[in-house]
Amino acid sequence: MAEERGGLIATEAQALPGGSARASAPATGCVDLHLHSCESDGVLSPTALLARAAESGLRHVALTDHDTVAGLPEARAAAARHQLQLITGVELSCAYRGSTIHIVGLAFDAQAPALQQLLKRIDQLRQVRAAAIAAKLEASGVPDALARCRELAGHDRLTRTHFARLLVASGVARDLKRAFRTHLADGRGAAVRAEWPRMVEAVTALHAAGGVAVLAHPLRYAKTHSARERIVRAFVEAGGDALEISTAERDPDATARLLRITRQCGLYASSGSDFHDPQQRWIRLGSLPRLPDGIPPIWAHPQWPQSAAPAARQQPQ
Ligand code: AMP
Ligand code: MN
Ligand code: MN
Ligand code: MN
Repeated sequence: MAEERGGLIATEAQALPGGSARASAPATGCVDLHLHSCESDGVLSPTALLARAAESGLRHVALTDHDTVAGLPEARAAAARHQLQLITGVELSCAYRGSTIHIVGLAFDAQAPALQQLLKRIDQLRQVRAAAIAAKLEASGVPDALARCRELAGHDRLTRTHFARLLVASGVARDLKRAFRTHLADGRGAAVRAEWPRMVEAVTALHAAGGVAVLAHPLRYAKTHSARERIVRAFVEAGGDALEISTAERDPDATARLLRITRQCGLYASSGSDFHDPQQRWIRLGSLPRLPDGIPPIWAHPQWPQSAAPAARQQPQ
């Protein structure tokens, strides 16, 4: 059975190591390797997220919070309860020529010193940036922004999403989109640049931790194909392993070009929704398009964890 969506041909089941392949796979995927919890800027706890993932038919998931692995222990316990395969994950903030690029790290050792150091460094950058954003908001009439934002987040790993939520809660913006557009997007009044690590630093740390590096949501970075391809090539130069091919974005033409460059550069392909919130109506968990034939999925990468029952490992056709 084949289903075409967003330029991707959905064919048969692609079994992941560590999970039992379904005899007849649903047309929708059972893999989502890009999910957020309230340990960064998602709204669900890791426990609630994994429960929802299981209900949605997902079998293989990664919690990829921004620059933190704080949610992993809770996610691991929940994954065991729901018989989900949880891949260790994180989404790292990186800089490339003045813009921010996100790299999803998967299947690494979360205790590895190189990665811990990088996470600590990014955390410090986040702390400094959050204080600067809060100062700007306070100067423009939002009282006590830093403390209120921390309270709203429940932790101090503040992202712009948390500030956007504060602006909505304070009646300054009608919704998150407008909060970004009017206040927090690049060039807006409360925007503050952070000198995130370079892509090569993120990829190197992930590799040192035994993991793989995936360029997250590649369609979001640039308006033109050529600008996007420059970013992909810089990611490859930095040692990156895979592109997120199956995402919530639907752009068949741009996806076809990404597939071409994935093949040319010998990259792997990953699947991830970037789910943050059940209110994001355009993301339905468990409904990512399947990866196309002819491109190795990230779970075929040699660094991918072998399952407890390696005999069950099946390479996609
Ligand atoms: P930060 O890493 O602190 O710069 O925050 C980035 C996060 O803000 C992203 O991961 C998204 O979740 C969110 N975000 C960025 N732009 C927008 C937007 N225009 N509307 C809603 N959320 C956004
Ligand atoms: Mn986010
Ligand atoms: Mn991202
Ligand atoms: Mn994300």
